[in-house]
Order: sequence, then structure tokens, then C-alpha cells
Amino acid sequence: MLKRSRTVPATCSETFVPRVTLKNGKSFDVPAGHTIAQALTIGGIAIGPDVLAATVNGKPADLSAQLTTDATLEPLRFDSAEGREVYRHSSTHIMAQAVKELFPTAQMTIGPALEDSFYYDFAYDRPFTPEDLDKIEERAREIANRKLPVIRRELTKQEAVELFKAREERYKVELIEGFPDGEPISVYTQGDFVDLCRGPHLPSTGHVGAFKLLTTAGAYWRGDERNPMLQRIYGTSFPTKAELDAHLARLEEIKRRDHRKVGKELDLISVQDEIGPGLVLWHPKGAAIPLLIENVWREQHLKDAYEMVYSPHIARLDLWITSAHVA
Ligand SMILES: [Zn+2]
Repeated sequence: MLKRSRTVPATCSETFVPRVTLKNGKSFDVPAGHTIAQALTIGGIAIGPDVLAATVNGKPADLSAQLTTDATLEPLRFDSAEGREVYRHSSTHIMAQAVKELFPTAQMTIGPALEDSFYYDFAYDRPFTPEDLDKIEERAREIANRKLPVIRRELTKQEAVELFKAREERYKVELIEGFPDGEPISVYTQGDFVDLCRGPHLPSTGHVGAFKLLTTAGAYWRGDERNPMLQRIYGTSFPTKAELDAHLARLEEIKRRDHRKVGKELDLISVQDEIGPGLVLWHPKGAAIPLLIENVWREQHLKDAYEMVYSPHIARLDLWITSAHVA
């Protein structure tokens, strides 16, 4: 079998014709200057609103990025962790845009995607109230409805500093100043909103179907208590209202089944401040549970001809260093 192996010519990337391979093994040439979305379309993959981004040789990238190398392409949808990360990351940008439109003096800091949610930290002179959250959520929906194209640009460090200085985003300026010199810095724009970001992102704000802002919390800038306290807003987003509602119902159910809540209500366990956080006191009804489990466990081991030993719960520090439990 003939294996093609090529590298990008340094000076004529406009005329370079990348060869694309899809997951199904299909392989084809893509005209020079084509984007990932165009390459996928040539490969027979319809770029509907379900296609959020793509991986290029395993690395997530924007659908609008130009192909500059031979690549294995795979579309990213909401059904993959990487696809959901792009979705939540764009959602947090939309939320930040909503905050900036409603509270122009709020300073943006960082806003990452989490597993099932996202957050953004703002420097603002007071905590956001539940009424603020309702307004921000409403505005985020409106921004999604505007279907703003999300555009990536690469700037020099100096240009990026100037851009965010002009926008009076001093935390962004501080972040950029900490980046190595000489490396391009990417920013993403949607409408009037610009954020410093590695990406990738959804092609448009219109890809986010349903938003819910969940809660607020205080967080220190760069996680350091000597730094100013920031206002963090957590939210989540899903392609449809039905999926969002199912997720919120699941969160409620988790809360309802929280062992700390159920344990207290059923008089199984308690945690008392005088003893310490996370140190559980088992009440008679609760103590019956580990007792039953231990009895079954012991019986099974004895039945299988195991012998019992007991060892102390504490030991010399050296032992834990040897076992790597203590660094
Ligand atoms: Zn970002």
C-alpha cells in the first residue's frame, strides 16, 4: 500500500492541496484555502447545527479554520465530551457578553467550560443577585437568538495588549502580559464582544439552544486569597430545552439524595463541628448498615478460607513515605 507523506511547503500554503481522511477511511484532496467545514462537506458530512467543531489530527479546531496540512478530520457534536466542551465554552462567552452588556463596568477575568457546566469570573463591586442572574440569563438567550458569527483572529502580543487596554479589561491585559513573547495570541469576537481565548468555538452564538444560570460564588483572582475577590457565575447549556430540563431534574434528584441530607433526616449519621468536618458519627440506625455489610464480608471471607488479621490504623511516618502516601 502506498502511503502519502507530505509536509506543508513553508512559503506557499495558498497552493498547498491538503489530503483529508475521514474516520470511515474515506480519503480525498481538498482545494487550497478550504476550511474544515468545506472539507467535511466534500467528504459527504452535512454541516448542520449539530456539527459544533472538528478534530484535526485529534486536536479540536474551529470549523472555519483553514486546512494547512494533511489531516484526519472528525466532526465534533454534542454527543462527545470534546464537543460538549466547545459548546459550554461558547456558552460562557455568551454569558460574559450578556454580563458586559448589562453591567459594563464588570471586568472579565477567566471563564472555562466544566464537565456539565461552565463559569465565568468577573471583577465587580458587589455580588450578583438572583434578579441579576435572571436578567443575564434572559440576555444570554437573546444573544444566542442574534446568531452572531464567532470569529477567530490572531494578534501579536502588543496588539492584544492594546486591544484589551482600549476595552479597559485590565485582567485580560495582565493575562496577556504573562504570555511568552513572539507567539500569536488568539481572540474570538461575536458582535461587539471580544474575548482572549485559545478556542475552538461554535460557528455562531445561535448554536446554543437552552441556557440556565445556576448559582454564584466568590472566587479569588488566580485562586490567591491576597488577590481581589471575584464574582463567579455558574451556568449550563444544552441544545434543547428538553435536555436542559432533564439535566436540571437530575441535579434536583442528586440534591434530594445527598447522603448528608438523607443521613440527617433518617437519623443515620451526623457530623459535628466539635469533632471535625467530614468525620461521621454513626447513630444506632446508621451503624446497623456497616455492621450488616461487615458481617456479610466476614462470612464470605471465612467461607473462602481466608484468615483474619488486624493491623494498627497509625504507623511511623517513614512507612507512609515508603508507600508514597506521604510525599
Ligand atoms: Zn474562552
